[in-house]
Amino acid sequence: MLADDPIQTAVARALADNMNDGGGKNADYIAALASVDPTLFGISVATTGGDVFNAGDADVEFALESISKVFTMALAMEEVGAKAFRAKVGTDPTGMPFNSVLALALHADKPMSALVNAGAIASASLISATNAEDRWHKILAGQSAFAGRSLSLSDAVNASEQSTNFHNRGIAWLLYSAGFVYSDPMEACDVYTRQCSTMVTTADLAVMGATLASGGINPLTKTRVIRAENVPHILAEMTMEGLYEASGDWAYTVGLPGKSGVGGGIVCVVPGRLAIAAFSPRLDQFGNSVRAQAAITQIAAEQELNLYLAG
Ligand code: GLN
Repeated sequence: MLADDPIQTAVARALADNMNDGGGKNADYIAALASVDPTLFGISVATTGGDVFNAGDADVEFALESISKVFTMALAMEEVGAKAFRAKVGTDPTGMPFNSVLALALHADKPMSALVNAGAIASASLISATNAEDRWHKILAGQSAFAGRSLSLSDAVNASEQSTNFHNRGIAWLLYSAGFVYSDPMEACDVYTRQCSTMVTTADLAVMGATLASGGINPLTKTRVIRAENVPHILAEMTMEGLYEASGDWAYTVGLPGKSGVGGGIVCVVPGRLAIAAFSPRLDQFGNSVRAQAAITQIAAEQELNLYLAG
């Protein structure tokens, strides 16, 4: 790859132009996230051809958090099929915060989206497994296949989250009572919590996104990770729910399917071309990284990546 490639230039400029944006604050309801250096800022783009362009702290690992929901959704859909997935989890946006119990109450406790906590717990429960370890290792293997390298969990983030995830446990029991969790509910919640604690760099995350951009084939390993026919369903869900209550505004302004996590990461997918990943810990009121949103918005506009543009 050339240093003067237009994508490399755009990535470096997005880092420089947004470096001084001090808005937002680290997630603090998970202690291990509150202590992450808030000045970290990394950006990567991975193409379907296997090129990866980086700027800033692109080699610093951070917790995947809610972005993990995309990949567990993909694995669960791979097992049960898109039609059954829609019936068992739901595929509409909630328009509410990612951990909303009100959203459940409004829909007879059906999660509606795999990209909110309830739907992610239901998705984790759908993966066939003999016990929690088996379920977790299948999910970690899936995340690693998307990234093209062996990922691992942060014990510190996992311990911190497992000791404070009472709200998510409550959600898992609500799902159980309504028939929308398909394993032991506490096992599903435990494994969901672990999947959020997987550590990635923006370079990893961009490759994970580029695997979706290339119809399910990892551009580095050239391995098929999921069926091509499931990818449009996943990208549609990312458009509808990927940035929670801000998803509509994101579609309106940026025009790309994306997914954020309270660890500060965001990934956006341009089908057939590339994925953009950015990481910076300070979040806005919806739980979306301020500088990651700004960087991706800038790159998408400069490179004319909005999916709704003609030509
Ligand atoms: N693990 C976090 C939770 O369950 C993930 C939330 C997020 O990234 N939006 O609350």
